[in-house]
Amino acid sequence: MLGLMQPHPLMISSILTHAARHHAKAEVISRTHEGETHRYTWADVERRSRRLVRVLQKLGVGAQDRVGTLAWNGYRHLEVYYATPGMQAICHTINPRLHPDDIAYIVNHAQDKVLFVDTSFAPLVTAIAPHIKDNVRAVVMLSDAANMPEVTLAPGMTLHCYDTLLDGSDDDHTWTSFDENTASALCYTSGTTGRPKGVLYSHRSTTLHAMTIAMPDVMCMHATSRILPVVPMFHVNAWGIPYATAMTGAALVLPGRHLDGASMANILNTERVSMTCGVPTVWLGLLQHLRSSGETLTATKRIMTGGSAAPPLLIEAFRDEYNVIVEHGWGMTELSPVGTYNAPKPDQAGLTGDEFVRHTLKQGRILPGLDMKIVDGDGKELPWDGVAFGDLMVRGPWVTSAYYGDEPGSALEPDGWFATGDVATIDPDGFMEITDRSKDVIKSGGEWISSITLENIAVSHPDVAEAAVIAARHPKWDERPLLLVVARPGHTVDPASVLGVYEGKVAKWWLPDQVLVVAELPHTATGKLQKMTLRTQYRDHYMTESA
Ligand code: ADP
Repeated sequence: MLGLMQPHPLMISSILTHAARHHAKAEVISRTHEGETHRYTWADVERRSRRLVRVLQKLGVGAQDRVGTLAWNGYRHLEVYYATPGMQAICHTINPRLHPDDIAYIVNHAQDKVLFVDTSFAPLVTAIAPHIKDNVRAVVMLSDAANMPEVTLAPGMTLHCYDTLLDGSDDDHTWTSFDENTASALCYTSGTTGRPKGVLYSHRSTTLHAMTIAMPDVMCMHATSRILPVVPMFHVNAWGIPYATAMTGAALVLPGRHLDGASMANILNTERVSMTCGVPTVWLGLLQHLRSSGETLTATKRIMTGGSAAPPLLIEAFRDEYNVIVEHGWGMTELSPVGTYNAPKPDQAGLTGDEFVRHTLKQGRILPGLDMKIVDGDGKELPWDGVAFGDLMVRGPWVTSAYYGDEPGSALEPDGWFATGDVATIDPDGFMEITDRSKDVIKSGGEWISSITLENIAVSHPDVAEAAVIAARHPKWDERPLLLVVARPGHTVDPASVLGVYEGKVAKWWLPDQVLVVAELPHTATGKLQKMTLRTQYRDHYMTESA
């Protein structure tokens, strides 16, 4: 027997109409490229998104068509976020930090029909235009007429100005309902693990994910919150924040392209941001700025960090010096992206000092709606004792089942779980801790060594700015850890002294066999360490040495 509740589909447009009707005055604030601050409300976002639907229709976009964006976090990008799925098209956010060849590959793979491009990417779109001309018909610069940049497109492509198109359009569109499983957005994984692959979200998955991340034990959003996603809107829907803020009526603060420590401190304070979210690199930059300038954070109480493991220093420094709580979340493009969040249960609520830091380093508990498990090499489930580590598997309504263009279900294991590619422990209270990417874990004499643990310890050395540990092949042990470090500006690193910081912190056999001081480490387009490149370069370091 079916339930007798109204079968209203979960629509992204309903999130926006809710915000416009019930939080009409709630602010959406953007720093523009021209260095100005643009302010309007959720009611304005909704009205302009309706206008944008008319523009898209005039540009020939129809249901299921892909609409690409190459843009920073800003209000025009937000309007594309809502207008596209609202008319049954698909908003395809593209990471502009990728190599131009990869960007062209992604645009063609997705068959984007129209591209919305920030003015700062005018040279980029000019460069790739000849390679995407078979798919992209129109390029719309996210600008007013006065600031239109020089762009050269290929024959057959047309160039437009966003504000001019909107000004010449009507807002008479009415949002419609359709199957909630309809595709709404497309995001390619950043390629840490190979060629970019598309993850295709739906109205249903996006709505359920947004509802869940707004919960108290996750991002804890209120109508009184003021939230700033530093995480780019081109990276997994800015972790769902553009949707969850509209749903809760929170103010949304969009920082534009300047994400250095000084710009961050400025916008967090002037816009009275209560909570902000991004990767550890951004928070380390902010910390350095606060320390050197003597500024403080006047309104920000919580920082969510995710995307890569948070170093202990980050948690300690913000807590002890600025009275700001750093909260740890974990996720991936394939999970919309949030999978776990570290909020205390009663047993952890009273933790203080080092115990608190130790616990905060864990990536957290699974969000309701999802499920997780860890398994060994044979697929056998491992105990939740906080010690055993194995491959982390997840499942749930906002986990991908296949990559774009592939058969439904083809990304899953035979038992229906999604293998995350991460290696983790889970403690008896259900707090998961990532110990490695499965490709990065070091297998020494049949035992596993966590590269993340070794990196975290290395960066606690006062002369070390950044560290990477990779598995280098070894004639006797199969693999052994090799530590690469970058010195802090003005410091010199003594390898022996770096090895000294491991004393008492890990088993002796975990110690890196060697420490190499390098000028810099390679990063991916999302700011993560590019271990694949390092592995290629240093894989045989110990073999060559022993030869
Ligand atoms: P890619 O896999 O291409 O780098 P994602 O941005 O989807 O793209 O990255 C997801 C991966 O990032 C996760 O599988 C995990 O390895 C890592 N990650 C995300 N959040 C955390 C975190 N809080 N701590 C450690 N690693 C994390």
